[in-house]
Amino acid sequence: MKTQVKALVVGGGAVGTSIAYHLARAGWDDVMLLERDELTSGSTWHAAGLLPYFNMSFATTHIHDYSIKFYKTLEEETGLNAGFAVVGNLRMAQTDARMDEYMLYASTAETCGVPYQWMTPDEIKAKWPLIRTEDLKGALYHQTDGYINPADVTMAMAKGARQRGVAIERKWQADAFHWNGEAWEVTVTKMVERGGNLVASDEQVVITAEHVVTASGNHAQRTAKMLGIKMPAIPVEHQFIVMEQDPELVKFRAEGHVEHPVIRDADAQSYVREERGGWILGVYEPNAPARFEYGVPDSFRADLFQLDLDRIEEQYMAMNHRIPSAENCGLKDDFNGPICYTPDGNPLVGPAPGLRNMWLAEGFSFGITAAGGTGYYLAQLMVKGEAEIDMASLDPKRYGDWMTTEFAARKNEEAYEHVYILHHPDEERPACRPLRTSPAYDRQAKRGAQFGWVNGWERPNYYAPMGFSDHDARSFRRGGWWQYAVEEAKAIREGVGLIDATAFTKHLVKGPGATAFVDWFTCNKLPSVGRINLTYALTGAGTTRTEYTIVRLAEHEYYLVSAGAWTAYDSDYLRKAIEDKAPEFGYIECHDVTTQWGVFAIAGPKSRNVLREVVKDAEPDTVLGNKRFPWLSMRNIELGMVPVRAIRVAYTGELGWELHHPIEMQNHLFDLLMAAGEPHGMKLVGARAQNWLRQEKSYRAFGTELGRDATPLEADLPRFVDLGKEFHGKQAMADHGIRAKCVTLLIDGPPDADPWGREVLYHGDTRVGRLTSGGYSVAFGKSIGMGYVKPETAVVGTRLKVKMFDQLWDAEIVEDSPYDPKNTTIRVDG
Ligand SMILES: Cc1cc2nc3c(=O)[nH]c(=O)nc-3n(C[C@H](O)[C@H](O)[C@H](O)COP(=O)(O)OP(=O)(O)OC[C@H]3O[C@@H](n4cnc5c(N)ncnc54)[C@H](O)[C@@H]3O)c2cc1C
Repeated sequence: MKTQVKALVVGGGAVGTSIAYHLARAGWDDVMLLERDELTSGSTWHAAGLLPYFNMSFATTHIHDYSIKFYKTLEEETGLNAGFAVVGNLRMAQTDARMDEYMLYASTAETCGVPYQWMTPDEIKAKWPLIRTEDLKGALYHQTDGYINPADVTMAMAKGARQRGVAIERKWQADAFHWNGEAWEVTVTKMVERGGNLVASDEQVVITAEHVVTASGNHAQRTAKMLGIKMPAIPVEHQFIVMEQDPELVKFRAEGHVEHPVIRDADAQSYVREERGGWILGVYEPNAPARFEYGVPDSFRADLFQLDLDRIEEQYMAMNHRIPSAENCGLKDDFNGPICYTPDGNPLVGPAPGLRNMWLAEGFSFGITAAGGTGYYLAQLMVKGEAEIDMASLDPKRYGDWMTTEFAARKNEEAYEHVYILHHPDEERPACRPLRTSPAYDRQAKRGAQFGWVNGWERPNYYAPMGFSDHDARSFRRGGWWQYAVEEAKAIREGVGLIDATAFTKHLVKGPGATAFVDWFTCNKLPSVGRINLTYALTGAGTTRTEYTIVRLAEHEYYLVSAGAWTAYDSDYLRKAIEDKAPEFGYIECHDVTTQWGVFAIAGPKSRNVLREVVKDAEPDTVLGNKRFPWLSMRNIELGMVPVRAIRVAYTGELGWELHHPIEMQNHLFDLLMAAGEPHGMKLVGARAQNWLRQEKSYRAFGTELGRDATPLEADLPRFVDLGKEFHGKQAMADHGIRAKCVTLLIDGPPDADPWGREVLYHGDTRVGRLTSGGYSVAFGKSIGMGYVKPETAVVGTRLKVKMFDQLWDAEIVEDSPYDPKNTTIRVDG
């Protein structure tokens, strides 16, 4: 056994095997895969092997697309048949809302070039007469996916990996990880059989590895403990049953008909596929329990849990309704296995928090579907420094240190149960809430706040009359909340509104090396003391890693404000960069002060009038005027008894201030502002209206327009990039050129819907890009969106089409900041 390798992959399931294969294929010739038992002995062996394209995310669609295409090539490469049955996948809709969901998904699928077609109930019936269709609205059919044998595909990847030089060691368990400053020393233990259990022997070896990837499946909690980190990857029970032969199906096939596609009856929370003349029924039922919260017992190997038929009775009956001939078929076999989940259902793929050269690939619930693409893109990340796609939505650091076992377990149960619910873009899930609340939460709730979930925080999405049901208001079109968001957006354009932005991520960076560091770390000019700047930290590949509003508090002291959803993600990157550069630049301190500061954003033409009522100053009439408090500057002011770090910016594009305040004084400040605002008609405003307003100003948002798949120049933000200085990622940014460009569009869409920011864009018959944001513009009285198009298309006045609800709608590329392009309202004096 080798004891020194470039990369050690821990876990020989579908995911780990694919990663080892792809690392070797990407050029790393010294890769070892370690498996504590046998390859596929984790969740992989008992997976149903379905390879569904369908999911609502751009990054995941790319991952699934790669897997499906890659698996089709494996036999040629390895000589092993992975049993890929390209039978297609039929997603049926029982309701109009479900059809709306499919149409939104289909537009996203088109942005990635994934093929699909629509089928009517009659077309389904004509092709597959065993399916009952009279209660269906229609279906989405993916003709190019299907199912595969999970063990066979893993073995084929393992053979491919071995052919490329990967060493695969079975019956060795990784038991301890130590970073020696340059490499990982991994203590591995020989596992032996004892009384049917797999137990550790006394034989241990230390393997030195430059990089380690963990793909430990259901053992993620043990892995996390060994690494001293947190991972919300905890499995949930998942069942499928195999039925005896169905004579009608056997007859149908004997007549020469092709195999049925995988039949997904999402409204009945189940999937069905053929298996040797019978059917397999798999379900995503309510009340499936989380398992192994504190680790997998030694006695649990390639084992299963007891079938719980009561729990899936409803779905079983629904299958008999959908395929009446199945009703008389007996039960042949059953599987109830652990399926790893995370709170949002996405796996955890990327660098581990706080650790060097430690990569996670954990928490896979669609691990057979995702294995191929995960291996491909993670290998890019490790070998080249970045992947072609933005992996942020999968990054392990999207959950912070506030996360606990109880949270992960209950949220994972919820994620499982939600697999087949309608994936409304305006959905808010209820489990484990409220958890992280700012002090004003109760006050906002009493005023009708409907909260959204951001990195655990409760943040008002909009305010509605008491008793309003957000759940019932959700839609793929304009939801019941839409009118409230319109009123809030108008309040900011015409009067004044108050937004809670406490969830913002905030870091303090200071010390003798701080100025040189921040200058190198971000791409815009540094502000002078008391001023602020919008800037970007780039990846090594020159794309956008984080957007910062930087406030220079003193010569060597900076307050960095970034998106609320990404605290741990931003913190990790910042701290690692500081650690790397401090020897060169000098001593630098970095503090995450997110939970110390509350933030209210007050905005609108009357915002100065409201603040003037409560500001304490020798000359209250001038303290907020342009002379003493110009746009893009910071001042420490006093509002009543509250010391406030006030920043003159407004993400809504109106006159406004962000009021950063000691969090323990938040309620006092809230009451003060509410009382002062009342005579001015101040309205509480939520995140949805804010999101629309910022699009009228073409303000890019992190996670939509800004991410690791585009440079700030592609985001069309050259005014925030100082090419006259050296900064991290500069050359790589230039080398990319402009592959696509960010634009703003005004859209003449359907009368009852706005785009969500996932839709495909056409120029004539040519697919030219996609929306990344969407919404409604109160200033223009129509839909608005932002997105990326081919550079040659990114010309003001170009008329494009947006695909919504399977139709093409007119859209026009408009100049940046179509509302108040000269920023006159922001700069207004008073
Ligand atoms: C009933 C059921 C049906 C499913 N159907 C589908 C489906 O149709 N399609 C789909 O895409 N997914 C499906 N899944 C999910 C799928 O099985 C998993 O997502 C996938 O197998 C995860 O692969 P993995 O490699 O991450 O984990 P695993 O297959 O669990 O592999 C992890 C491996 O790591 C090893 N290991 C752990 N710790 C260590 C250590 N310290 N040292 C060495 N080795 C270690 C384990 O022994 C294990 O072999 C299903 C799951 C279930 C339960």
